[in-house]
Amino acid sequence: MSSRDGDGWIECSCGNKHWGVHGAAGVLIFRNSQILLQHRAPWVHNGDTWGIPGGARDSHESVIEGAFREAVEETGVDTALLKPVHTFCDDHGNWKYETVLAQASDDLIAHEVNDESHEVRWVEIDQVDLLTLHPSFRNSWPELKKLLHGFIGPH
Ligand SMILES: [Zn+2]
Repeated sequence: MSSRDGDGWIECSCGNKHWGVHGAAGVLIFRNSQILLQHRAPWVHNGDTWGIPGGARDSHESVIEGAFREAVEETGVDTALLKPVHTFCDDHGNWKYETVLAQASDDLIAHEVNDESHEVRWVEIDQVDLLTLHPSFRNSWPELKKLLHGFIGPH
């Protein structure tokens, strides 16, 4: 039986507080030269920033299960149209954020489905740095970008 036991704050060894007692997972959805980003509502933690769908992972979930569940909840994507190709781990010691890189098929449609996000947008990889990014995503983005280029080729 699935229970949501991942919600809660962690006092991280990096000095910050993070959401997700078992860590967190997100999904970086890419297609051609674009990635899917969502704009987080101003009233949530680190709001009014752009990031990837993700959140606290439950203890019984794999990284991909947690990341895909969040993506469905936040953007309404059909995960059957996503192909996970790599998992990137941002390990802080007693907390980690794992990002699943997932290639979207041409049919994938995303749209905002809850109050935590109010816009979902495909963004050119080269334009991502122009947005105000969620702090966790901003930290991982240079590494993620390199990984992406390995899957889609340089742009
Ligand atoms: Zn940390």
